[in-house]
Amino acid sequence: MALLGCIADDFTGATDLAAMLVKNGMRTVQVIGVPAPDALPPEADAIVVALKSRTAPVAQAVGESLAALEWLRGAGCRQFFFKYCSTFDSTDLGNIGPVADALVAALDCGFALACPAFPANNRSVFQGHLFVGSALLNESGMEKHPLTPMTDANLVRVLGRQTTGTVGLVPFATVERGANAIRDTMTALKEQGRRYAIVDAVSDAHLHAIGQAAAQHPLLTGGSGVAIGLPQNFRNTGLLAEQSDPGALPDAQGHAAVLAGSCSRATLFQIATAKAHAQVLELDALATPDAVTLAQQAIAWMDGKLGSAPIVIAASGTPEKVAALQQLLGRDAAGALVEQALADIAEALVARGVRRLVVAGGETSGAVVTRLGVRSLRIGREIDPGVPWTYAEGSGAPLLLALKSGNFGAPDFFLKSFAMLGQ
Ligand code: ADP
Repeated sequence: MALLGCIADDFTGATDLAAMLVKNGMRTVQVIGVPAPDALPPEADAIVVALKSRTAPVAQAVGESLAALEWLRGAGCRQFFFKYCSTFDSTDLGNIGPVADALVAALDCGFALACPAFPANNRSVFQGHLFVGSALLNESGMEKHPLTPMTDANLVRVLGRQTTGTVGLVPFATVERGANAIRDTMTALKEQGRRYAIVDAVSDAHLHAIGQAAAQHPLLTGGSGVAIGLPQNFRNTGLLAEQSDPGALPDAQGHAAVLAGSCSRATLFQIATAKAHAQVLELDALATPDAVTLAQQAIAWMDGKLGSAPIVIAASGTPEKVAALQQLLGRDAAGALVEQALADIAEALVARGVRRLVVAGGETSGAVVTRLGVRSLRIGREIDPGVPWTYAEGSGAPLLLALKSGNFGAPDFFLKSFAMLGQ
């Protein structure tokens, strides 16, 4: 029976949380979307349901989150975690407040802490204000985000505008005093009728103390950072055994490949770096603006090249090329064309015996995983921060997948991924 049930408001955020739980000793499976009510829960200590609810209409985000909660309860989970972005991505309409309100009501718990702090990734909360590095959230660039512009760094106010409840603060001085002080302050805030407390944290030690203080809370909300202390709570009560290797994955023997659809700077650099060591095909969607033909080009190219040494197929373009294709087709159609081509190519790769596949790009990963019919990912060891190897279930063949958000990973990410598997 799983112990911890998590609901994440986007796909790569779900993987980030799952990797954090594995690193701290819980065997974790990420499921994609809300499973069918009768779907059997995976064998795991923690389950993360990955939704796409961050910017969905409020009613849809709430509905899917409640359905995920119901399923996780059925899977035996005894504590729940609502994961959102460490930059608190949301608007005054939601979706953090409305989803949290619905979960608090469904669990009848009256209170939940809210802590997006992730010091290892430069996100800290001080006196209720969220900092990205040394900049306040509203001066960090996030104030210009196209979908969720964050123009106020005071999270007590931000969450206050999104909830029908009220929001208090567990300030730095209290957090510094440790788990007992944090627990007492949260209890007092709940007794005063607060539904939430923003909790300050500027170090992992703070996050561990917060996790300990919330051991008995049915619901926590936050970034993946604040999950760091939860596995220890389950070990303390004897519910979670010490695991020698919580990120152990079944093996999948076969060919190796990389598919890149991200045009982010880190990915472009990773493709350039791979050229010295691997065979690389760079598709030109501007010259061939047709998904089927692009896929055919890649399929013809891959013949005879597949083996244990990875091949790299990239549709990624420079900003100028991307802008030109977008001008030709419109932004959404340009993205969809490349995603369709890469999904076709992924299918062809797996049909030809690829069993170890790295995919670069968040949307690209979504398109590939959907096409391959993957329903869940067992989370393995991290390659670079936030990107673990995973074992895909549902695709028919044994398959190891590493799904990389565009800007993640070191320059040698692609080769390092396969080296880690012992090739
Ligand atoms: P990231 O994680 O870097 O944001 P995504 O995969 O989420 O990467 O998004 C990249 C988007 O750009 C996808 O929709 C992809 O199909 C699209 N794309 C990839 N290559 C090109 C290109 N050459 N021209 C236009 N769009 C492209």
